[in-house]
Amino acid sequence: MFDKILIANRGEIALRILRAAKELGIATVAVHSTADADAMHVRLADESVCIGPPTARDSYLNIPALISACEITQADAVHPGYGFLSENARFAEILADHNITFIGPKAEHIRTMGDKIEAKRTAKRLGIPCVPGSEGGITDDDEARRVAKDIGFPVIIKAAAGGGGRGMKVARTEADLSHALSTARTEAKAAFGDDAVYIEKYLEKPRHIEIQVLGDGKGHAIHLGERDCSLQRRHQKVWEEGPSPALNAEDRDRIGGIVAKAMCDMGYLGAGTVEFLYENGEFYFIEMNTRIQVEHPVTEMITGIDLVNEQIRIAAGLPLTIRQEDVRFSGHAIECRVNAEHPATFRPSPGTISYYHPPGGLGVRVDSAVYQGYRIPPTYDSLVGKLIVHGRTRNECLMRLRRALDEFVVDGIDTTLPLFRTLVRNQDMQNGAYDIHWLENFLKDGGLGDAGL
Ligand code: ADP
Repeated sequence: MFDKILIANRGEIALRILRAAKELGIATVAVHSTADADAMHVRLADESVCIGPPTARDSYLNIPALISACEITQADAVHPGYGFLSENARFAEILADHNITFIGPKAEHIRTMGDKIEAKRTAKRLGIPCVPGSEGGITDDDEARRVAKDIGFPVIIKAAAGGGGRGMKVARTEADLSHALSTARTEAKAAFGDDAVYIEKYLEKPRHIEIQVLGDGKGHAIHLGERDCSLQRRHQKVWEEGPSPALNAEDRDRIGGIVAKAMCDMGYLGAGTVEFLYENGEFYFIEMNTRIQVEHPVTEMITGIDLVNEQIRIAAGLPLTIRQEDVRFSGHAIECRVNAEHPATFRPSPGTISYYHPPGGLGVRVDSAVYQGYRIPPTYDSLVGKLIVHGRTRNECLMRLRRALDEFVVDGIDTTLPLFRTLVRNQDMQNGAYDIHWLENFLKDGGLGDAGL
């Protein structure tokens, strides 16, 4: 096992990793930018190193600074969390060259799945059902037209290097196609420095359902069921839950079995998520994330398995702690991503938290790194924290979530708490009757009412 883990991240996920490391008796090193000198992960780690100025490029993404921090502190492993360098294959390789373990998948798998065209090709080869679309990248209008006619309109043009819901354009008719293609390419180039795009069928009313996996890298892999992340705004997840209100045990076993087998065949190492759109009883692969995800606690709450602990153990060469037949799904969990944003306009609201009171009680978990008096810097993402609630049934979970949301106080900044208080009382949400467009339609129709004022 490792002696010391350096956590190449900040905020709630840095704290989450720190907790897992401490429970395993491993020493921790926090790194931070000058904007994060007062951050909770810095206070709670055994050691800390300042790695640069606020801009992520110069600190949390600064590979030489991170390597130096490992060498100074003699850390023998790095956990990248999510975002930042978590899906950077080159970082994994550079760490390996320095005899430092990257707590994550093999570099080749990060690279394959990071290119969405290559990822789809790989998924198809491994027997995972995919959204119909182009075989590879699309470069000219004629080719786009041919593929679009073949699969039928509407179609969506997506960036091969895409992420965070950016670089996607829908074309409803042939007339829209050329414009959609050129704007998607321009946006992809600006956002990712790579203008490669591909086309797939645009599904009108799908749910977003993803399967959590763990693999030991030696051909043994399991799935831990699904998370339903259909509640989205601008393709970004807002509320995640498990199990999905739309799946039965048979569907779960079927898709879980396909994914676990694919991961075995790949020799996948570590934690990962295979994402699907789900419509009319069919699953369609969209991408794979080769890292821990923001919404991983949903799975932890319904399986009792500590995913970060598993990541660390796997990276140290230990076997999985659990076999597929021993995985038990218990009850229901919902996660709300509470952001420092105005609940109606979603304008970021950085600033100082003047009063903070997180909810507690049975089945309530808050993963957050904020505290009273903490100043949320404008430089990074606007996550205040994640509220995760567990109940024996979905209904119990909803009742508990309502109570927990009412108890949650964050003063001094705008947060999206009022949005969640409205959602938890909404009839469609209570029925689990929502798809990936539901939230945007709800907001457009003024569903937030007074809560958004
Ligand atoms: P990113 O990597 O940017 O998150 P994804 O491929 O995971 O991109 O897609 C993000 C979201 O975009 C999905 O959850 C879904 O809401 C929407 N989306 C992606 N592909 C399609 C599609 N073929 N049809 C309809 N919606 C899609």
